[in-house]
Amino acid sequence: MKQATKFIHAGVEPDPSTGAIMTPIYQTSTFVQEGPAQHKGYEYARSQNPTRTALEKAYAAIENGKFGLAFSSGVAATDAVIKLLQPGDEIIAASDMYGGTYRLFTKIFEKFGLKFHYVDMQDAKNIEPLINSNTKLIWAETPTNPLMNIVDIAAVSAIAKKHSQILVCVDNTFATPYLQNPLDLGADIVMHSATKYLGGHSDIIQGCLMMNDAGLREKLYFIQKSTGAVPGPMDCFLALRGIKTLHVRMQRHCENGEKIANYLKSNTKVGRVYWCGFSDHPGYETAKKQMRGFGGMMSFTLKDDNVETAKKFLSSTKLFALAESLGGVESLVNHPASMTHASIPREERIKNGLTDSLIRLSVGIEDADDLIEDLQQAIG
Ligand SMILES: *Cc1c(COP(=O)(O)O)cnc(C)c1O
Repeated sequence: MKQATKFIHAGVEPDPSTGAIMTPIYQTSTFVQEGPAQHKGYEYARSQNPTRTALEKAYAAIENGKFGLAFSSGVAATDAVIKLLQPGDEIIAASDMYGGTYRLFTKIFEKFGLKFHYVDMQDAKNIEPLINSNTKLIWAETPTNPLMNIVDIAAVSAIAKKHSQILVCVDNTFATPYLQNPLDLGADIVMHSATKYLGGHSDIIQGCLMMNDAGLREKLYFIQKSTGAVPGPMDCFLALRGIKTLHVRMQRHCENGEKIANYLKSNTKVGRVYWCGFSDHPGYETAKKQMRGFGGMMSFTLKDDNVETAKKFLSSTKLFALAESLGGVESLVNHPASMTHASIPREERIKNGLTDSLIRLSVGIEDADDLIEDLQQAIG
């Protein structure tokens, strides 16, 4: 089945009791049993809920996976993956990943005896020297926030495959299944913050995992029901609705992204533009190989590279709302130095390319001319 058809129909059957075309919001905590342990597949809503079941089938299908699991947030999905591990196990992760993932690893899981190694994963070969018999997981994210660095998923998976004990999990939040399918490239697990593009309307917090291996699905399902970070049925309904338009939204995000990236590049007051669709972007060749488009996420610096100039820009945009998060239909702007990456010491931040004026855009699906006009008046 082609992607557009799958995004609309996957997981959804007319409701058996009424014929309702949309899966109802089963707002219930428990299910009546005909006799002890005699039930219709649903016992208690932490373990299963029909709205969630429909969504989990859709999640599996959109990533070309056999199984999907929904969680109450993206970080809850990440948390479940790490709970597959034991004290003493080692994880290799990318040095520039989502800040909340880094916080979860360093502040929560290190104290349980897990060892994390951080490498520049833009060159997959950097992983190999860190592998030993305790290595159990490689955590990759691509493209990354905010510099849109690209990790070669097939190359990382090929390295992991030489060692039977190593799983590869890819955070596919930025690319979405419309642009990239890590399971097809050899990854074992795909993780999403469905809060972003999958939900697509800035109205839910949710996460998910997709995989092909039934044993792995059983372990992750056990963690999901045992630790309880499950989304409610209303949020599952909204995620299911969001997925139905993912391809249409993403098509426009990509079109607008290209127009805005080119506009920024031509503006004499703009310094560097980080968008993985530019041939001078360091990850361009890999992006072209593993993605079907380049998306609407980008960052840029101002030639007048200081916090004050950036702040003036950030308080002048009218359509681009100043907010954390990304992936909704509306355009958002964010200042890593004072918002998402403020906890990183300035020296270290600048060394990694996150200069004082770096601005990140989540380009929405409004009219591109209006968005450009807004950026133009704010850059001044
Ligand atoms: C937002 C985000 C997360 C965390 O997801 P939540 O839904 O906020 O818990 C993880 N990875 C990436 C790339 C994100 O953008």
